[in-house]
Amino acid sequence: MPDIETLIARNIDPDKTITERVEAIISDVKTNGDKALFDFAERFDGVKLEKLFIGAGEIRELASAIGEEQKSAIDTAYHNIRLFHESQYKKEDKIETMPGVTCWRDSRPIEKVGLYIPGGSAVLPSTFLMLGIPARIAGCREIIVCSPPQKDGGINCFLAYVATLLDIDRIYLCGGAQAVAAMAFGTESIAKADKIFGPGNQYVTRAKTIIQSTSQTAIDMPAGPSEVLVIADESSVPAFVAADLLAQAEHGPDSQAVLVSNAEEVINEIIEKLKQQLELLPRKDIAAKALANSYAVLTDDLREAMDFSNRYAPEHLILATDQWRDLISSISNAGSVFLGNLTPESAGDYASGTNHTLPTSAYARSYSGVSLDSFLKKITFQHITAEGVRNIAPTVEVLAELEGLQAHKNAMAVRRTMSYEDNY
Ligand code: NAD
Repeated sequence: MPDIETLIARNIDPDKTITERVEAIISDVKTNGDKALFDFAERFDGVKLEKLFIGAGEIRELASAIGEEQKSAIDTAYHNIRLFHESQYKKEDKIETMPGVTCWRDSRPIEKVGLYIPGGSAVLPSTFLMLGIPARIAGCREIIVCSPPQKDGGINCFLAYVATLLDIDRIYLCGGAQAVAAMAFGTESIAKADKIFGPGNQYVTRAKTIIQSTSQTAIDMPAGPSEVLVIADESSVPAFVAADLLAQAEHGPDSQAVLVSNAEEVINEIIEKLKQQLELLPRKDIAAKALANSYAVLTDDLREAMDFSNRYAPEHLILATDQWRDLISSISNAGSVFLGNLTPESAGDYASGTNHTLPTSAYARSYSGVSLDSFLKKITFQHITAEGVRNIAPTVEVLAELEGLQAHKNAMAVRRTMSYEDNY
């Protein structure tokens, strides 16, 4: 039985294979710009592109091809995600910290944002909704969208439909680390973004972590291969838990699905259901590879299960137990949490309203998932009146003096020693 630290380690690239490959891709994009993007599309996506983007006319045409049922499902998801993210906007109060000294904080949108929409093993219009909706609510001036080209050299009609909902009239046909590099450094066609958002495979995630220290472009978070941790007990429904584990496993061979339970027979029943359900999945080969990289943990009780989960810091945590209310306060590390037997992760992946772009690989210890705030900067403001100068000057002058910063002291003292109208 491996120790806990070994169990919870994931996507660590021990021999630096991914890092070296990604560094080479970034360097090629920096040197050769668009030409490198055409070359990588041919090499990694198997497509000889004639142009690097799909424009407004083609987006509209593609979007018009989708069926009513799919359109209605995307519309409902759009509505719920928009409602939840709009509710995150909070205007903060102005605070008078001392008479005459007023401080406040206000938001401004990040001007140029780059959205990465994965499209390797599955095209994810849901990710486009999850990133595009908060970007639009925030009021970002420029939204650059990159997604890998499909085999026909275009994009899929569902991405196109989401683009029409978001009023986005260009999608760059560019995936992987090269798309991240293009948005971080700019090319002839793709503008440099101030911040890059979006999940992706290990190449995408590694590229994001590299460019955040080598370009002046920020990232949302390291959101790499997806993972779930399910806590189950005698009150769980094995077929539900098995379905949730498989929903995660089918994302990609590098996904991870972890089951933690206080009852061995519950684990065995879930594994039995999982084997049966796996056989019926169209993506069973992918899911089987992910399961080979997954495991179950037996604990003494639910408290110990929760302790393991907090150490693992899962992207998605499902509490498949009727005890979920009692466990909420002990959750300290998780990207997004699904409570009770009737709340599958799929609801949050698509349509309940919460964001599905979440920190993976234990980054839930320190990062939050994407939200409206991710697209905003918080700027602080202050205004001091004559009364405020009289009140705060002694404190500032003493502190400046004790730090040996005379000019700081003077900047306060010259104001204190002169008299002005209060609103000068
Ligand atoms: P992707 O768009 O992330 O990656 C596809 C690109 O990877 C290709 O266009 C290609 O350029 C590049 N690539 C492929 N093989 C390569 C190689 N050998 N060398 C260099 N580059 C290569 O799509 P994907 O592969 O389907 O991965 C999507 C990922 O996103 C999955 O791992 C999934 O779990 C994850 N995901 C995470 C979240 C989250 O919030 N954390 C949400 C949704 C999806």
